[in-house]
Amino acid sequence: MEKRRARIPVKESFDFYALPIPTGAIPTDREALRHNNTYGLLPLFYVDYAFNCRDCGAAQIWTAKQQKWWYEIMQGNINSVAVRCRPCRKTEQQRKKQARDIHLSGLAEKHKQ
Ligand SMILES: [Zn+2]
Repeated sequence: MEKRRARIPVKESFDFYALPIPTGAIPTDREALRHNNTYGLLPLFYVDYAFNCRDCGAAQIWTAKQQKWWYEIMQGNINSVAVRCRPCRKTEQQRKKQARDIHLSGLAEKHKQ
């Protein structure tokens, strides 16, 4: 039995977070990403992310620096990504605010009676 056990290869422990990151990429601060409370691995680094705006279709770059700000300082959800360009994001924020105001004024009206 001992001999048999000795023949089983010992699995080398693999440290994902020790992997090298590409040049130009911004490393993540895992402490700052803790709010995500995920069992999955956290990203190692940020790189510029190209996308097309959901509303107007304009080609956009979500820079690594902006991503770091969003995930680590604004505590954005790790699964969230940029989908709109800056002007469309502003428009969408205004639309949401307007909808919320209408909804809340409707509620206030209802509770008056
Ligand atoms: Zn747009």
